[in-house]
Amino acid sequence: MLCLAERTFSFMSLSHSCQWPPQTEVYSRNFCRPVVFQLTQQQFIKGIIMSVPAKVLLVDLNNFARYPTLSIGYLASILRQAKFTIDVFSPLMVGVRGTIREARPNVLGLPKARLNHRVATSNSRWVRQFRNYVAKRQHSGITAHQQAVLEAFRESLMQSAPQAVLISTYLMYYEVCIEMCRLCKEQDIPVIIGGPYFVQEDVYAEWVKIDGLSGLIAGELELEAPNIINSLLNKQDVSHHQGVLRFASDGTIKGKVARPLKTLDDVPFPDFSDFPWHQYPNRIVPIVTGRGCSWGACSFCSDVTSTAGRTYRSRSPENVIAEIKHQYERYNVTNFVFVDLKLNSNLSVWRAIINNMQTVAPGAKWIASVHVGMEEDNGLSAEDLIAAAKSGCVRLTTGLESGSQRIIDWMKKGTQLDLIGQFLKNARAAGISNRCTMIIGYPNETHEDIDASARFLADHVDDIERIMLNRLAITAGTPIVRQLKRNPDRYQGFHIVSENAALAQVEHYYEGVSRSDHRGAVNQLLAHVVGINSKELLTQAQDFEGVM
Ligand code: SF4
Repeated sequence: MLCLAERTFSFMSLSHSCQWPPQTEVYSRNFCRPVVFQLTQQQFIKGIIMSVPAKVLLVDLNNFARYPTLSIGYLASILRQAKFTIDVFSPLMVGVRGTIREARPNVLGLPKARLNHRVATSNSRWVRQFRNYVAKRQHSGITAHQQAVLEAFRESLMQSAPQAVLISTYLMYYEVCIEMCRLCKEQDIPVIIGGPYFVQEDVYAEWVKIDGLSGLIAGELELEAPNIINSLLNKQDVSHHQGVLRFASDGTIKGKVARPLKTLDDVPFPDFSDFPWHQYPNRIVPIVTGRGCSWGACSFCSDVTSTAGRTYRSRSPENVIAEIKHQYERYNVTNFVFVDLKLNSNLSVWRAIINNMQTVAPGAKWIASVHVGMEEDNGLSAEDLIAAAKSGCVRLTTGLESGSQRIIDWMKKGTQLDLIGQFLKNARAAGISNRCTMIIGYPNETHEDIDASARFLADHVDDIERIMLNRLAITAGTPIVRQLKRNPDRYQGFHIVSENAALAQVEHYYEGVSRSDHRGAVNQLLAHVVGINSKELLTQAQDFEGVM
């Protein structure tokens, strides 16, 4: 079925005539020659309106600081193919910067990190909440400059004059989205919101009620986007599209969450032409080769309970390699970031990238995340890593999470410390910069577990170049929440304080992290982390500083 925009664009064109109303040629697919006839003035004006392709404003509240946003690139590509006109509004375009990961610490880095941890683990809930509020503003440019972003969005609505607005957002921008919907409603513009976590019932039940919202996307519906917008423009009920939710006047939610998208090769390559390339320090293109994670069991992981993370699905190796070639040629880029949760989920894709990267994108450098699993072949042997480095792999991120095997097992991380240690050594020997993620404050964690983490870092200090250390954040819908509620006795001293459904946040307090021995151990651990993060990156990885 042709969408409205494509239909009007493809089937009607105006002849260049001085007549008023002019003669109009109507083309039919069945007859090659145009039929020429005279229109009334009213018909002509209507024809002009109908022949202008519908304009859609895509709003990017993901706002990455270092490279374009994949979801917006996909939407732009799909909607352009369907002959819509696209404008993109990104806060970065008005100077609001996104998050930079692991900025190199200065001389105050360690005392600041220690003070921050002391406040974050205060016994006082109010102190913790105030600290979280400040941290949120520091972390996100959009939150810190909310009014400026909204003002710029309002101007963008005036200038662009779109017929529909599509917002892609993280949950943390709930307040911003409420205001954007209000502004759209004022101008009678339909607005759809999509994002990574709207398949969770508690979350969508809050968001769908936003005043002015025409529909909430609960699924991977990018291929369906043209039809959804056409329904909006034709004032039809968008909840007829599977995965679009709407709040009805009787107080019920219409529509259903969509099943995971299986046919990933059907999605066209993303179009990044709308992004402010000059504002990125380096030209980097993001690529995703699959959705979800083949391990998918870590108790704290909200990536695998997100919309695109439910179940693991992969693109074909041929499709991935074709996209690398396409983006290399189209954007003149040699830097790629694979944003897969676990790039070694599908070893045929992983090895196809390694074997073909330099053929299709000569001079390419790339980074990715991997999981050091316990399977016989996890794609990360010394030979694999040497081949990866030769293909341009300059950095790999892996989830270490803890230097205590006991905690790793509680987390159901599916790995062993000796395997991770060997992987780090092999990767570094191959010339790959290693980055690890770590978590502190997991239920039942003691100062001895933190000591073990510090020892692991000391033992591998030469092999690791960046650490992303987080205090445990609990997201609604993850296995850990179920475990905490079902078996609270197994997690002594760990309390769920409150839950924010709209943000999927589960505020908690773990008595263990406020103990002086635990704080002392964390202070030691922070010294190792700050020391590692102060290192100069391997030369070949420097283009990716602050990326991932
Ligand atoms: S390996 Fe990573 S992506 Fe996969 S479940 Fe664990 S934390 Fe999530």
